[in-house]
Amino acid sequence: MKIDDNARLHTDGSIVCSHCDHPLGTSAGDPFANAIRRERPSQAAGPGVRAEPSHFTDRPIGLRQVFCPGCYVLLATEIAPTDEPSYRRWELQDQCLGDARQDI
Ligand SMILES: [Zn+2]
Repeated sequence: MKIDDNARLHTDGSIVCSHCDHPLGTSAGDPFANAIRRERPSQAAGPGVRAEPSHFTDRPIGLRQVFCPGCYVLLATEIAPTDEPSYRRWELQDQCLGDARQDI
């Protein structure tokens, strides 16, 4: 089942890269568990993000990116407070997983 342009869900619940089939995670609850993560200042996102975050918030803000360890394609990007304990995650609903298993 296609999750997005970069990730697919296998019937066993594992997540793989759509470009090289490298395993990214073993469950929908943590789909990028095996991915490469990089954190940089938020301004590294490009010219559209040039303001100093401290002008708007007391929290440290950073750019977080996740890459496939097999082909190094960029899987996800976010600009978020760096004092949050982990990368914001998404999960697939059990109903979606059940539908995917029935489709195959
Ligand atoms: Zn890949």
